[in-house]
Amino acid sequence: MKGQPRKYRHPHPAPLDALQHARSGGIATFMRLPHIPEAKEMEIALVGIPFDGGTTYRPGTRFGPRHVREQSVLIRPWNPELGVNPFAKYRIADYGDFSVNPLSIEDTFRRVEAQMEPLLKAGTRVAAVGGDHSLSLPLLRATTKKYGPVAVIQFDAHNDLWDEYFGCKLSHGTPFRRAIEERLIREKSFLQVGLRGQVYSEHDFDFARQHKVEMITAEKFHAAGIHVFQDKLRAFRGKPVYVTLDIDCVDPAFAPGTGTPQVGGFSSAQMVDLVRELSGLDIVGCDLVEVSPPYDNGSITSLLAANLLYELLCVL
Ligand code: MN
Ligand code: MN
Repeated sequence: MKGQPRKYRHPHPAPLDALQHARSGGIATFMRLPHIPEAKEMEIALVGIPFDGGTTYRPGTRFGPRHVREQSVLIRPWNPELGVNPFAKYRIADYGDFSVNPLSIEDTFRRVEAQMEPLLKAGTRVAAVGGDHSLSLPLLRATTKKYGPVAVIQFDAHNDLWDEYFGCKLSHGTPFRRAIEERLIREKSFLQVGLRGQVYSEHDFDFARQHKVEMITAEKFHAAGIHVFQDKLRAFRGKPVYVTLDIDCVDPAFAPGTGTPQVGGFSSAQMVDLVRELSGLDIVGCDLVEVSPPYDNGSITSLLAANLLYELLCVL
């Protein structure tokens, strides 16, 4: 039918089969989904953004999308806890990687914003896999062009609200300061979960307090449990929500493959629970960032990321 998205046969619940790999051009796609670089053909696009030019310490997240794709071949479609098969609910495909400029953060941001446009125009929601956390800024810039300022839920060991690093305003430590300055985030609608560890000084949370950013530290979560998160989520119902998941919110014992690890984080089971709690929110887009395969052991970080990506699809 003209104007209607073309139907494709979904691979699930197929076993790991060579045919599916042939369909995706012989490369591993996210969750063995078809590789479809056409925005209009899907309702949810899985997109890789292989860029780590915003990294301040250990690099390598440019290889994140490739490794998450590889580890995602084990993903099965039915989620018994949430009672959902996201692949039956939505047309989901691997859109491929956005083109980036490894030598320029500014040019990469322009490219990301431009490449988001046809997807948002087609009404396709994007689940982006980084790459480093600087990418949330162009993703938010693009998303808010369509939805206006959004509520944000950030899972992260760090608040990424610093003003600058080495005199640079754009980095993976600064995206949400810029997003607040640019009014991309709704007032009193920004929740950070998993913050912990050392910061640079006692003033590091001043900006967050001034701007009424809500925080659930890892310490608080460990003491009080999932209820603190459930309570805070109530204020997010009925609003357009953007979810950003920095894999370093998970403890390095479970997710060592990341650039700035902090001890004392969530277990992988706790992280899965936290994502499942997002069910019922009006999520307009999400990203999963900071997976750095060179520091991974036995691909456990990429495997966890692939599973969290699946759980995110289940709550979209
Ligand atoms: Mn972080
Ligand atoms: Mn971060």
